[in-house]
Amino acid sequence: MLTDLSPIRISPTEQEILNKIKRLSSRSGSHSPSLSTMQQAIPEINIDIDACYLSNPLATDLFWSQFNADVLADPQLFKRMLEAYPSQNGAIAERLSATLGIDADRLFISNGATEAIQAVIHNYATHIHICTPTFSPYYEFAGSKIRVTEFKLNPENNFSIDPEEYVRSVLESQADTAVLISPNNPDGYLLPDDDLIWILSRLTSLRTVIVDESFIHLADRPTPGGQMPTCTGITERFENVTIIKSMSKDFGIAGIRAGYAIMPSNRVDQLLSHGYLWNTSGLAEYFFSLFERPAFLNQYSQELSTYKGYIDKFISTTAKFGFLRVFESSANFQLMQMPEGVSAEQITTLLLLRHGVYVRNCGDKIGLDGEFIRVAIRTEDENIKILSALTDVISP
Ligand SMILES: *Cc1c(COP(=O)(O)O)cnc(C)c1O
Repeated sequence: MLTDLSPIRISPTEQEILNKIKRLSSRSGSHSPSLSTMQQAIPEINIDIDACYLSNPLATDLFWSQFNADVLADPQLFKRMLEAYPSQNGAIAERLSATLGIDADRLFISNGATEAIQAVIHNYATHIHICTPTFSPYYEFAGSKIRVTEFKLNPENNFSIDPEEYVRSVLESQADTAVLISPNNPDGYLLPDDDLIWILSRLTSLRTVIVDESFIHLADRPTPGGQMPTCTGITERFENVTIIKSMSKDFGIAGIRAGYAIMPSNRVDQLLSHGYLWNTSGLAEYFFSLFERPAFLNQYSQELSTYKGYIDKFISTTAKFGFLRVFESSANFQLMQMPEGVSAEQITTLLLLRHGVYVRNCGDKIGLDGEFIRVAIRTEDENIKILSALTDVISP
């Protein structure tokens, strides 16, 4: 278990910067300040590795080189993106349909998955039941009109979900909407398929069950025929299930704002007629057009499997950390609990100041009691630096 540590020492200069970061964070709501906000506000810090945002850096590079090649081949490509409206939601859905194996009329393309979360909650929910800790937009979009109840995940059980307890909790809450994120953010727990199916089969009375699979491609599970895994079968089997999928993390393109949801076609129709017709951008349309290129998808699969190798290596290294409690993760990040007497805020600041490593201080995560940080897994070189920075700052 955890070794007893004396509190970490912090110099006065470090304390001063710590205070600045505190002020900045309090202005960023439930999300961490972005890298550029941080650097602008506190010029004395030098961020070398962004291990706060959860993106796949290999996929970003792949996208970037593809984009450059296409612009080189067609110099007007980017200008057209700027000048013209992108295609309508339904037309982009058509482009994705074949690759995902989902009928286009059940696909709702969104400006980041966050927009799909907002659309579903604002249009179809009066009371949502979330698991905490969770991705904050699920309760933020509820505002004051939509009731929110919670199923608390327990670090002692590695944040796992006991299907029977969970179903009981949802039904007792009388919520009309339940949210399951798997793998979950911030803990990385993957709900086994059998558990998920069992849960969904018991929750058919709900109006909506949201299954957020934004990190599913990072979970270690087979991808038959090179197809990207989706929960297709689930939405076909359970009418009330809506799948939410962000492209930001596994494709490393958070800046483009691209995501989608899979839901019954009548809901897609309703949402499109309620103003979501032109909700993406030219760049997002370009990104989705890559789904029609087998060569791109092949390369992506290769990058993904290389990246998964990095993730495995990272996780097997932290498993040996005796000075820190780490949680098993099926995603590209890991939640870590600080030793007794050490605050997550101190560690976050010291990692930044002494090593230029920016990690997520989870102090503001609702439903996460205690001192936690979330560390994103990056390229092999960066991971080595992140791991040695953690060891240096925390290990006694
Ligand atoms: C990041 C994230 C999203 C949404 O991301 P977008 O950038 O809006 O696509 C959705 N769900 C979970 C669990 C996430 O972590």
